[in-house]
Amino acid sequence: MSSGGLPSRWRVPLTDVRLDRKAIEAVTSVLESGWLSSGPIVEDFEAEFSEYVGTEHAIACASGTAAIELSYDVLGVRPGDEIIMPSLNFVAAANLAARRGARPVFADVVAENDLTLDPESIGPLLSPRTRAVMTMHYGGHPCRPEVFDVAAEAGVPVIEDAAHAPGAETQRGRCGSLGSVGCFSFYANKNLPLGEGGMVTTNDDTLAAGVRSLRSHGMTTTTWQRRLQRHASYDVVAPGVNARLDEPRAALGRVLLRELDAGNAKRGEAVAMYHEQLAGVRGVRPAFSHRRGPERTAHHLFAVVLAAGVDRDGVRGALADAGVQTSVHYPPIHRLSAFAAEKTAALPHTDAVADRLVTLPLHPGLGADDVEIVVDALRAAL
Ligand SMILES: *Cc1c(COP(=O)(O)O)cnc(C)c1O
Repeated sequence: MSSGGLPSRWRVPLTDVRLDRKAIEAVTSVLESGWLSSGPIVEDFEAEFSEYVGTEHAIACASGTAAIELSYDVLGVRPGDEIIMPSLNFVAAANLAARRGARPVFADVVAENDLTLDPESIGPLLSPRTRAVMTMHYGGHPCRPEVFDVAAEAGVPVIEDAAHAPGAETQRGRCGSLGSVGCFSFYANKNLPLGEGGMVTTNDDTLAAGVRSLRSHGMTTTTWQRRLQRHASYDVVAPGVNARLDEPRAALGRVLLRELDAGNAKRGEAVAMYHEQLAGVRGVRPAFSHRRGPERTAHHLFAVVLAAGVDRDGVRGALADAGVQTSVHYPPIHRLSAFAAEKTAALPHTDAVADRLVTLPLHPGLGADDVEIVVDALRAAL
């Protein structure tokens, strides 16, 4: 089945969104209601999401990027401040730091088979200007718990970029509930795809109130609240932005949240098939070939590491010729043109793995036949 009937050149696309009747009807009924901007359905989605993640608060946003930006705002990230983050990350966290005159300080990942922030790389990067540690649960795999311990010892808040990790869980709780603030993305290729959207999660009442206010211009009432009142005005208590989610997306989000665990489990089944079939293939290894303890991953991405010396572009080209779409998560940020001037510590694990990473197709609808096509093409390419 192709995605939504859209033509695709790929036999096996990297990701695929398949909405069921329930999801489509939830959106249709909002469209029929005539109230489209943020209102009671967004509030329901927030309540259900906070319960799912296990935090006191969840505040819906226009995007994952908006969630990170509002988090920087309420944590008081100012010009000259520093935010420690993995270089092997999507660029949003670094861009948003740079845009406000703060410095992204790039840290290393643990190892080739654990592409999350290395807790041991944080200490040497701490300075009096460190305002936050930004961790990222790569591919849906929870970062090491020591990240939170090191930051707590230094008295620095942790922001979790949990864009990959809705439903991922550790012994200390779910991703998004482990630091001061969690940031989720509902971009179309994420595990809970709304097209665009995001969520901030936190247990801190003050941070939550700040995000809620700044998300909507710093105004003391919303359009929906004023609609419910006879006389209503508003004050503005801080200069905010419009980073709201709307009702159709929230309605879709409520349905997809109920389906999230099942979707993540399907992703897990596809990953298990990959592991089994790749076991005998030389020159390639899954990036997270070990699972530590009782953790649960959200299986957002399936990244593999090619053996040193293998021509990655050649392998990706051969896969593309076989109709298999691949990607790279990520070109390390410290090597991107916009950040090349940043003074960056040695990042041996990041640099060792950066040119050997390939992300293979993964989505809840990926079947045994798809995995076989991918693995056969990979075997032939190596
Ligand atoms: C997708 C993503 C973001 C940005 O989310 P948007 O909703 O696209 O703004 C941030 N960080 C990571 C790790 C992501 O994967």
